[in-house]
Amino acid sequence: MNSITVHSSSRNEMIDITMEVQEVVDKSGVKDGYAILYVPHTTAAVTVNEGADPSVKHDILSALNKLVPHDAGYNHAEGNSDAHIKSSIIGCSQTVLIENGKLLLGTWQHIFFFEGDGPRTRKVYIEIFGK
Ligand code: ZN
Repeated sequence: MNSITVHSSSRNEMIDITMEVQEVVDKSGVKDGYAILYVPHTTAAVTVNEGADPSVKHDILSALNKLVPHDAGYNHAEGNSDAHIKSSIIGCSQTVLIENGKLLLGTWQHIFFFEGDGPRTRKVYIEIFGK
């Protein structure tokens, strides 16, 4: 199983991992197929969204924080229920197609690791399928 390591530096963060995922595709030698990305954490997630304008990721984080405040009288004693909820909203997996050895992303699309309870060292599992 391939994996990449992600180091977050703040509590909530969107980290562009497109290049790291493409490197895994390159090493696999697969030209046409797909990559499954899987985040094995309950307070993190993975998503695909605009990578050209950095204000988009800030807006996403800001909207998530309004939707799911850090402290809102949750039951979970660890104090990170907001991160668990955001992880479930965004999701822990993505599938990205591969064409001619490249991730088949739209012009503005990048792959982002979402950190909900950083800073931490995290993992993303990546399996490449195809020929
Ligand atoms: Zn927790």
